[in-house]
Amino acid sequence: MSTIPATRDACIALDADDRLAPLRDLFGLPPGIIYLDGNSLGAMPRTASERVARVINDEWGRELIRAWNTAGWFDYPRRLGARIAPLIGADAPDVVVTDTTSINLYKVLSAAMHLVEGRGDASRRQVISERGNFPTDLYIADSLCRERGFELVLLDAERLPDALRGEGGTGAHGTSVAVLMLTHVDYRTGAMHDMAAMSAAARAAGALSIWDLAHSAGAVPLDLRGSGADFAIGCGYKYLNGGPGAPAFVWAHPRHADRLEQPLAGWWGHAAPFAFTPDFSPAPGIGRFLCGTQSMLGMAALECGLDTFAAADALGGIDALREKSLALTDLFIARVIERGRGLGLGVVTPLPHEARGSQVSLTLHADDPDAGFATMQALIARGVIGDFRAGDGAGRPDLLRFGFAPLYNTRVDAWDAVEHLRDILHEGHWRDPVHRRRAAVT
Ligand SMILES: *Cc1c(COP(=O)(O)O)cnc(C)c1O
Repeated sequence: MSTIPATRDACIALDADDRLAPLRDLFGLPPGIIYLDGNSLGAMPRTASERVARVINDEWGRELIRAWNTAGWFDYPRRLGARIAPLIGADAPDVVVTDTTSINLYKVLSAAMHLVEGRGDASRRQVISERGNFPTDLYIADSLCRERGFELVLLDAERLPDALRGEGGTGAHGTSVAVLMLTHVDYRTGAMHDMAAMSAAARAAGALSIWDLAHSAGAVPLDLRGSGADFAIGCGYKYLNGGPGAPAFVWAHPRHADRLEQPLAGWWGHAAPFAFTPDFSPAPGIGRFLCGTQSMLGMAALECGLDTFAAADALGGIDALREKSLALTDLFIARVIERGRGLGLGVVTPLPHEARGSQVSLTLHADDPDAGFATMQALIARGVIGDFRAGDGAGRPDLLRFGFAPLYNTRVDAWDAVEHLRDILHEGHWRDPVHRRRAAVT
């Protein structure tokens, strides 16, 4: 753990000394808001509205269709991919920005199945993943497995290494794992897998590995090339600050690049889209993971998000951001433990730095099943914005999630958030019926 400031004034002093502090001004955060949900929707870069307006007025408005060339629209997915590459430990030509995380998972999982089938090993028919993986990943994998005659096997994280080795009862097939599909940082708990170790275990077992970086890209330093992973996908609108519905990204290890087949082989993934040939001939490398025409407004907003990371480069880049993220989460955890004493709070996020991402998740034991939801609503009513993830009534508890984005969060944010949380619980403010109304998005 880093040294924890003991007073709010000490937090103010550390924030003032923080060389990353000026980066906060790159964001248009409303005054009075403590924003701790950048793991779900990153804050808005100040440049975004002007940049998107420029795409509309200057590029679309004046250039019209010429803008595909003159404004660089056509190359946007590759240009932005090259800018994400250093954040994820990939080489610039190996990443493209396109579609959504869900769609990109469909593409890479299908490509992985195809690679395995190409080896002629008909006994490898399992895709294994974690039971608690993000639902869209499980839904996509389940649907693709059924379509392609694979079996989706869901396990608790501790059981994955044994399953890869063919031990511990993965079913009737023994060592039949084709693909290990994991989300690097768990969306509920914030727990982080050891990517290199798990990718190596997959490789040793003759399986391919796919990593969902939705809660890692822009939050923790990543080394896709060095980890030996086979595929990765990730999200543009979380820590990367690309705006609601921002395009996602996709990476494949270059050792596979020219052998990959993806099922959504549209014209943007063609080697020569403007040849308009009736037969599909895939673009070299990762370019074949493009499908069709992308939203240039979405690309432009994501570029502004990536600009905020570029601004951090001169200040130590993603390593410096990680260091600050850990200082913020260490502080938040320490304050929750100290100020939350006797109030029913529990920290479910693992404490070791190497075992967690940039969010902290709390449980709340109370005499009322709505307590967690209502407490988060009471926090939001005070301008402390985190979010709530319901449990399943069985093993998985309700969670209050707090995401820390070191580009714009401060130590005072962490300090004050816990003071509000304490006050709401200690004074029972969460019991006010106004905090129990449920909207579609929690
Ligand atoms: C946020 C998230 C997604 C989002 O998928 P979309 O296609 O953008 O809706 C997918 N997977 C994980 C692990 C996520 O955290």
